[in-house]
Amino acid sequence: MSQLKLTNTLGGNVEPFEPLEEGHVRMYTCGLTVYNRGHIGNFRTYVSQDVLRRYLKYKGYRVTQVTNFTDVDDKTIAGARKAGIPLREYTQQYIDNFFEDCAALNIEKSEYYPRATDQEYLDAMVALVQKLEERGHTYESDGSIYFKVDSFPDYGKLSRIDVAGMKAGVRVDADEYTKENARDFVLWKAPKDGEDSWDTAIGPGRPGWHLECSAMGMKILGETFDLHAGGVDLVFPHHENEIAQSEGATGKPFVRHWMHTEFLIVEGEKMSKSKGNQFNVPDLIAENYSPMAIRYLLLSVYYRQQLNFTREGLEQAATAIRRVDDFLDRLGEVTREGDAFPETAQAVKAAVERFETALDDDLNTSAALAALFDLVKGGNTALSSSTMTKGDAEGFKGAVERMNTVFGVFGQGKKMTLDDEVEKLIQERKEARARRDFARADEIRDELDARGIVLEDTPTGTRWKQK
Ligand code: AMP
Ligand code: ZN
Repeated sequence: MSQLKLTNTLGGNVEPFEPLEEGHVRMYTCGLTVYNRGHIGNFRTYVSQDVLRRYLKYKGYRVTQVTNFTDVDDKTIAGARKAGIPLREYTQQYIDNFFEDCAALNIEKSEYYPRATDQEYLDAMVALVQKLEERGHTYESDGSIYFKVDSFPDYGKLSRIDVAGMKAGVRVDADEYTKENARDFVLWKAPKDGEDSWDTAIGPGRPGWHLECSAMGMKILGETFDLHAGGVDLVFPHHENEIAQSEGATGKPFVRHWMHTEFLIVEGEKMSKSKGNQFNVPDLIAENYSPMAIRYLLLSVYYRQQLNFTREGLEQAATAIRRVDDFLDRLGEVTREGDAFPETAQAVKAAVERFETALDDDLNTSAALAALFDLVKGGNTALSSSTMTKGDAEGFKGAVERMNTVFGVFGQGKKMTLDDEVEKLIQERKEARARRDFARADEIRDELDARGIVLEDTPTGTRWKQK
């Protein structure tokens, strides 16, 4: 299989993606600020990360993904105060909503979901500030601790901002600000009346947003890890500040590869509450759109291009899904005995290769979908002329299912997830072997092999991976 290449925001080039540890990718996805239910713009970023994650697995990598929850920042504190409930209780409802929406959109689970207010991560944040203090990157003012931007010469390398005109010692306390306001940023905020705060070794207060992700990322994935991602709005200041804090503290590169998903806009306009064009997943389900159509639309456009979300687009997505699902149904009805024709095997192989080439080329999902639809078109022609054999049908089905391990939108609702299906077959094989039915056990292994899944028997059980 060829090499995956991804655009790296750091430097701006398309680069081969190679994890530091062979066969194992460690990635961090900036998660929701949980002060309301995530909207479909947020989910464009999470779906694009899910496609990356699934494609890495398709290529045989083990993936360790962290998706955090920003459950303490200016917005969550303001929301909890307004609602008159404790911060963690207030944010929990939106965390629950996030998991519901991820399940509806068939987004695979990350390995870790840290919350910034979990004690172990608060401890990591405090330790990180202490390290920055030791290395001369901080100063205190009115009980808050700031990062001294001019102590870190690489500041600006991700967003390529010019820091020459910045005045030393001028500070910003807000979590979000623009490039024009680039200056020393807050690491640890002094307690304010009515705001949540913690008593710690660096004094009472609460973390700034940027500090949270640096600490959670390094605590779970190590001081240097492979990939860090979010929407384009996070390049500055969030990710720029994360680099300064992390590299300032460790002296090591923080992240090798930065990935940013372009914005989703709605009917040509920026999504915003005031325009009333901010939708979340249940809003669209209430309009009778299927979650799979939402997922399809979100992943159908190359992640570095803006995506214009329209209802017409959702309808087209539903039609596209139906086309593939109908094709799979028709394949199941083929009765003509016989092996696959060499032409079919060739066409199927070429389509899978085209799909892989497209995704290797900076996760070009629209080109990958085109490979799938051309294959479906060819298959439908063969079905109409009744020339298709059972062997051909198996070949087509196998290819569509393989591609769908990455897209995750077709045949949903009718079928179990791939994981469930494979686990079930592994269990069946185990039982077959226990009763010494080796023929059946081998048959199951071959069936999985044909679908691109290899089994590995280990002393602790059977593991599987995609070829
Ligand atoms: P937030 O909850 O604001 O921290 O955002 C969570 C994630 O969604 C971040 O990675 C944002 O960059 C991303 N995001 C926010 N709005 C959009 C949008 N309209 N399109 C794509 N991604 C977005
Ligand atoms: Zn973050």
